[in-house]
Amino acid sequence: MIGVSGVRGIVGEDLDPELVAKFAAAFGQFLAGGLVVVGSDTRPSNEMFRYAIFAGLLSTGCEVVDLGICPTPSLQLMVTGLEAKGGIAITGSHNPAQWNALKFVRPDGLFLYPEQIQKVLGITERRIKRVSWDHIGKVRREDSAIENHLKKILPLVDQQEIRDRHFKVVIDGCNGAGALITPELLRRLGCEVVKINCEPHGYFAHPPEPTRSNLRELSQIVESEKADIGISHDADADRVGLVTEKGDILPEDYVLLLAAKFILGKKKGLVVTNLSTTQALDDLAADFDSRVRRTKVGDVYVARCMRKEKAVIGGEGNGGVIVPEVQYARDGIAAVALILNYLAQTGSSLSLLASSLPRYYMVKRKVKIRPKGFPPPREYLKEQFRAARFNFLDGVKITLDQGWIHLRPSGTEPVVRIISEARTRQEAENLCRMGMEKVLKIDPLDKLPFGSKR
Ligand code: MG
Repeated sequence: MIGVSGVRGIVGEDLDPELVAKFAAAFGQFLAGGLVVVGSDTRPSNEMFRYAIFAGLLSTGCEVVDLGICPTPSLQLMVTGLEAKGGIAITGSHNPAQWNALKFVRPDGLFLYPEQIQKVLGITERRIKRVSWDHIGKVRREDSAIENHLKKILPLVDQQEIRDRHFKVVIDGCNGAGALITPELLRRLGCEVVKINCEPHGYFAHPPEPTRSNLRELSQIVESEKADIGISHDADADRVGLVTEKGDILPEDYVLLLAAKFILGKKKGLVVTNLSTTQALDDLAADFDSRVRRTKVGDVYVARCMRKEKAVIGGEGNGGVIVPEVQYARDGIAAVALILNYLAQTGSSLSLLASSLPRYYMVKRKVKIRPKGFPPPREYLKEQFRAARFNFLDGVKITLDQGWIHLRPSGTEPVVRIISEARTRQEAENLCRMGMEKVLKIDPLDKLPFGSKR
């Protein structure tokens, strides 16, 4: 499956070493040789794919730098640091262990743009040009990615202020690539670190997505250890989930809200996020005399826009924060540093900081249809939703007085995703139903969408 940032699939079904070698070779040809940085999360299939990628890259005249197990943001930083031509992250990210994926990185550290992915795909469909035997490059091992990343993050926070608080932190490394770097970051910031699932073997103790249902163990241990905060990453550590000192699991989008509030308190400027992220971010930005720019869904769109508009902070509602001083990439480790700095600076508890955020309710559904002519004609929508504001950048987003609805066909599954948000759960549910009835023209009661908990 080809997504906005790379190729992904189930190991042995969609993804095998031959296909992976072919994509790596196509990427090598696309780059026209040069230095390519390769790293992976901890999944058991990575070793197999790593060698396939080396073979593909070497066959097209690339030199390979092997980072071994490495968080995706650390890899992105190495691409720019080594002035490489590109990078490949082998990571299924938040997907279960049987999944894997390749993410291709540009020389500027951003993921390959969708139009560039199409070019790489085009190369796989033709005969790949291999270099002659005497132009085949070498693989060199490099172990400095984590140290390099920490050196970039630490100077951005008030380290002494954080050390003075002697935070007790529980880190759930999810047996992923964040299992090494984040405990080390915490240690250097003077925290007492309690580690769970920090063996980077890739047999995940729970699905590697930092969402509510996967953070229960962390929540219990934060409570029993009387810790100040609980932190969890996905398998490649570009995302973060948070647990308060009371053991409460915070909604995913609070990570971006807290990071943005901390940064906006220090400097005014633009915040960038995608169309499906909470309105709370706009409310926050307004409090600080700043504003929010919205992009299509996908971190590459957010990163591109942030760089173009010189945003001060950005990211997505899934716990992925982009800190421009580090790089234009979602960075779970940098996000942790900012949040600890925010806690230290305010002298407050995480639950108190969380309770000060604007509160909304979000409802997310997906409906298994591929409607013809989506979205419907604008005249029709304007008729159905009088006094609404529309955004057609990515599907259709409809903003009404009581909240908003965003309907968007998925890029990877034959479904339409519906997200609505309002001040109360009931209102958000009503908006979601309204979207199904009026935009998708289906009866929500008749056709119960899967993924729904009703
Ligand atoms: Mg990830």
